[in-house]
Amino acid sequence: MRCGWLPDTSPSWYFYSHVDGRSYCTPLLLADWSALHEVSMEPKAINPEMIVALAPGLAATRRRRIRERLETVGATVSLVEGSERHYFELRGEIAALQTLSIDSWPGVDKVMVLGESSMHWAPDKAKSCAPIQVGSHTVGVGELTIIAGPCAIEEEERALRIAERVGTTGADLFRGGAYKPRTSPYAFQGLGADALPILEQVRNQTGLGIITEVLDARDVERVSQVADMLQVGSRNMHNYSLLKELGQVSTPVLLKRGFASTIDEWLMAAEYILSGGNSLVVLCERGIRCGAASRKVVLDLGAISELKQRTHLPVFVDPSHGSGEAYRVPSLARAAVAAGADGLLIEVHDQPWEALSDGRQALTLEQFDQLVPELRRIRTALGESATEYSEHVVGTSSGEER
Ligand code: PEP
Ligand code: MN
Repeated sequence: MRCGWLPDTSPSWYFYSHVDGRSYCTPLLLADWSALHEVSMEPKAINPEMIVALAPGLAATRRRRIRERLETVGATVSLVEGSERHYFELRGEIAALQTLSIDSWPGVDKVMVLGESSMHWAPDKAKSCAPIQVGSHTVGVGELTIIAGPCAIEEEERALRIAERVGTTGADLFRGGAYKPRTSPYAFQGLGADALPILEQVRNQTGLGIITEVLDARDVERVSQVADMLQVGSRNMHNYSLLKELGQVSTPVLLKRGFASTIDEWLMAAEYILSGGNSLVVLCERGIRCGAASRKVVLDLGAISELKQRTHLPVFVDPSHGSGEAYRVPSLARAAVAAGADGLLIEVHDQPWEALSDGRQALTLEQFDQLVPELRRIRTALGESATEYSEHVVGTSSGEER
């Protein structure tokens, strides 16, 4: 192991360590890392995920106490001795360690997190995940997944008409809301449980896998009896009891981004589901609040490459809620595919002007028919580069029965 610090043109310095073929080079904001000039490592130095800088000159007994406390909470600890101060390198459940405010412990100066490798969404965890099978369709294996359907299930005949048509012209999956999270309690709330047999009917008649939103942890079991994939809506991304419940089932989850959430918060929401034992999570960007915008939300297409870099999870985009207006949907959908999205969620209605929810942003059947081949063409034109960051996404080789 090599460990040291590198001068940079900026006033900050870069810590580097090289362990088992992996290097870390991390900008440091610590006041005094000069001790790293002369460090000696314990013989069994570890590949650290977190570094704890102890206060300069901290007595050995107090150092031991901190070490014991860290080990008690499950960390593997390795000592790095500096000339003025010592450091602990940690491995373990970093997410849990991060919640302990170690930097406020007496005798601790600073804490730095180097890696996210303990997270279930981290790229190297892909191998332990099953492929994401939604009905007969497999998500995130280099093919573009197109999900289409009305915002809400309004009546059986209409749902079937829309599903038949989008299925014929290229949708891979059908989505329709039974339970709708509406801003106003006076707005149409969805048919609720009455929509579930309709969704079942759609699957039987079209063969399309079904996605529908689950709003409440108490409904998870009932909705998963019908749905091939459960949607968690933007407003529920922070509903931790719902997320925990979804960790207990084996139905895939489409986790939408909270419209005021950072990527880190979104990933932690995914971690709730993944760490509960359900590895079948797809992220869906759907637009976020932005103070500078004249519109309700701005679609964050830059999130796609970041998520592909940091996670193995498939990344979908919802250009319908990300735009709020049908005329803006096609261009955002095309841009999302060009930016590397693994799938799209597009609201489609046979008569958007009559829709009971989100009609303004719904494409007509004709508009959807026209858009799908364009999207597929963009994906084909991108070829390998469309998935260059998605090698972490799980493959199809080993299936898991639902
Ligand atoms: C929806 O998908 O119809 C919906 C309400 O989406 P979101 O949760 O992203 O607002
Ligand atoms: Mn909607």
